[in-house]
Amino acid sequence: MSESYLMNTYGRFNIVFEKGIGTKLYDTQGEEYLDFVSGVAVNCLGHCHPAIVKAVQEQSSKLMHISNYYWNENAMKLSEILCKNSDHSKVFLCNSGTEGIEAGIKLARKYGAIHGEDKKQIIYMNNSFHGRTLGALSVTGQPKYQETFKPLIPDVVSVNFNDENDIKSKISNKTCAVIIEPIQGEGGIIPADKEYLKLLRELCDKNDALLIFDEVQCGIGRTGSLFAYKKFGVVPDIVCIAKALGGGFPIGAMLANERADVFEPGDHGNTYGGNPLAAGVSLAVLNELINNGVLQNVEEKSKYMFTKLNALKEKYEVIKEVRGMGLLIGTPLKCDIKAVINKCFENKLLLITAGKDTIRFLPPLNVNLYEIDKALEIFEKVIASL
Ligand SMILES: *Cc1c(COP(=O)(O)O)cnc(C)c1O
Repeated sequence: MSESYLMNTYGRFNIVFEKGIGTKLYDTQGEEYLDFVSGVAVNCLGHCHPAIVKAVQEQSSKLMHISNYYWNENAMKLSEILCKNSDHSKVFLCNSGTEGIEAGIKLARKYGAIHGEDKKQIIYMNNSFHGRTLGALSVTGQPKYQETFKPLIPDVVSVNFNDENDIKSKISNKTCAVIIEPIQGEGGIIPADKEYLKLLRELCDKNDALLIFDEVQCGIGRTGSLFAYKKFGVVPDIVCIAKALGGGFPIGAMLANERADVFEPGDHGNTYGGNPLAAGVSLAVLNELINNGVLQNVEEKSKYMFTKLNALKEKYEVIKEVRGMGLLIGTPLKCDIKAVINKCFENKLLLITAGKDTIRFLPPLNVNLYEIDKALEIFEKVIASL
């Protein structure tokens, strides 16, 4: 596709997909693929789920967009459901993960301006990923993403993930926020230690700083809980979500508790955020997850996958570890992971990498056990052929 007019920003597989049903994708030749990428944790209900299709059809024929100068029922209902299922009381709606992070960064800076002299510092984690806009990029602890685009926003400081002494030595009353993924996604599916998150909570309280969790990838059911922070027993002041929130339709959100709720009219905004169509689709997604049994079944499927992958680890030395939570699973390998991904692709299984050495499994949350068997059969075949 070198003749394409699309800007050269991705290393794409040489394939054009045309349609999808559930966990299956079909290319323009009609070839069937098993999708364990789910649009990078977006298609939580698989492709073309009837509830999502219905929500798009019905809402788009009623009202798509009106601007945030007016109220709309769907945005209000969506925010209510998010708050009633979290420990937060206000929601800012946007269109993507990075926009949720930008909203969080701005909210933190305003909180700092209100609560102290020169309270501007934001602490972020090495090996993290928070998005591609300049604010989110400034707190993304991976030089390969940052280097070309400097100067980034000032007063940001990185610490080593899960390193208690490092954060203790850097946090102060000049800190307005600490931002962390409870499970690092792009960095290699690496969960934070519970004790570390508890320490962050204590340090933030002691220094009057906001604790921000980026749950863009690990939130909205991926871990088996609607919010990943519930699995860790540590409540952040701000949670950013996106990806699975729209099940394939673009939407993002930032949730804040009362302490962090410092925005006033004019402080922040966006044109599309929470429009009736996006919010309507999100309502349908949450209804499936919460009320129609999808969330409740993640645990069982997760156990099934972990058991099978751990058995493969016993059998093949090339698998270093099986880690993650729910259906956010990573297996670091001792070999060239690109080769494994490509071989799986040749065998009609879609997988992606995370970090330098890890294969990432992200099936839709409503995947069935037969599909898990099939995917892991292909994965084993590829591993065995190395
Ligand atoms: C994907 C991702 C983002 C960025 O989301 P976009 O919708 O691509 O802007 C931010 N944080 C995490 C943890 C992500 O996985």
